[in-house]
Amino acid sequence: MTYSKEQLLTNTEGLTSELSDLDKKHLIHPVAVPKHHASKGPKIIFSKGDGINVKDLNEHTYIDGVSMLWNVNVGHGKKELADVAHHQMSKMAYSSTFYGYGNEPAIRLAEKISRLTPGDLNTVFFTSGGSESNDTAFKLSRFYWQLKGFKDKRKIISLRRGYHGVTVSAQRATGIDAFRNFSGSTDPDIVNAKAHLTECELGDKTHPEYSGCIRSVIEELGADKIAAVIVEPIQGAGGVHVPPEGYLKAVRALCDEFNILLIADEVICGFGRTGEMFGVSHWDITPDLMSIAKGITSGYAQLGGVVMNDRVADTIKEYNDILPHGFTYSGHPTACAVGLKNIEIVEREGLVKNAYKMGKELEKGFTYLEEKHEFFTNPRTVGLLAGFDLMKDPVVNIPFDSSVQAAVSVVEECYQRGLLIRCFDFEPGMNIVAVAPPLIIQKQEIETIISILDEAMTAFSQKVK
Ligand code: PLP
Repeated sequence: MTYSKEQLLTNTEGLTSELSDLDKKHLIHPVAVPKHHASKGPKIIFSKGDGINVKDLNEHTYIDGVSMLWNVNVGHGKKELADVAHHQMSKMAYSSTFYGYGNEPAIRLAEKISRLTPGDLNTVFFTSGGSESNDTAFKLSRFYWQLKGFKDKRKIISLRRGYHGVTVSAQRATGIDAFRNFSGSTDPDIVNAKAHLTECELGDKTHPEYSGCIRSVIEELGADKIAAVIVEPIQGAGGVHVPPEGYLKAVRALCDEFNILLIADEVICGFGRTGEMFGVSHWDITPDLMSIAKGITSGYAQLGGVVMNDRVADTIKEYNDILPHGFTYSGHPTACAVGLKNIEIVEREGLVKNAYKMGKELEKGFTYLEEKHEFFTNPRTVGLLAGFDLMKDPVVNIPFDSSVQAAVSVVEECYQRGLLIRCFDFEPGMNIVAVAPPLIIQKQEIETIISILDEAMTAFSQKVK
């Protein structure tokens, strides 16, 4: 059906219907079921946002319980960010950072990042997002070793349930089979360790998962073949997994022992999400390279980067030929201006501290839900990066049958009640729900999220009993 312009202006249902038809015809959506989408169209067509809330075309309001894709950290509708983008765009459409060209926002943002990041992570290579950052981190790690005369040090070790993006190398580093294997793409130099955040990294060779841990992969492949290990300080899209105490320090020590670089993928954790400016700060470690994106602009513009320590940067800075790597939008002036203003907001509004404080409120709410609902288990919150599991019998570890679609059902119940959250069920028996609202959230809003989850859990329990 088509609508006249007048009808479209007055009839939002008509607009929704028209856009839905156009979407079905002309768009393939990322991480959606194409066949389902081609017949049903988009679930929500968003039109605007304010604070922690977003609206669709029909003015239905939803709480953005995962900050869209864990990125809208300062919340929606920050006019200051629109203004700074407008101002920068009005001055100059775009300028490249290729061929040694510079622009003020990129230079100032790089300097600002170097002051925020721990240790001597002082030098930035800008990208347009997280996947590009990780591919760049892999390439720069390999390049570093080439420059040092170790041409065979090429392999990158990543972890089970790590998520690093969808460019080919980032895809292969991702430890979620569906993503890792999609389209049969390969990168023979990426090796996925099979153990999952176990204490065996501390060196216990009798640990049942020892043969799949990073140390055993290093022993098997030989450190002379390995360029870097990549870890998320807290795994996000793999299901919000917090490493055991001592784990990241042990991985740092392992990398030092075997002369391997450590890459921290801070794409989700970075810029305050976990109640620290960066996720690694919870465990007091400094990686050699850090991938950043998402929270650097709170999603208001596309930007990512790799931050290098002096050891890596100084070696690259000695290279006396063209560096054949870079993206058209590396150091995009508008994105960098937005990044600078976004960090200013994060600091001015004390959002890192707020993430910590509100994380504690969320934790209290999860404790209440765990006590009340028998299927709600294993809650974890680090700042405003939070998750929980759904199990048929948490006491003896019996998962729901996959036909129950437990996590999908709870997320759907929340959606019906105006709360958008995410679930992960990519492994048999896995039913994980993630909650990661904007860092500006206030106590009352956390309480609303908990009360919606409470109702959703009750509805789900009634369905499965
Ligand atoms: N790394 C992590 C930890 C992520 O969560 C993501 C995206 O969710 C990426 C990398 C990929 O980032 P992008 O989608 O911007 O390429």
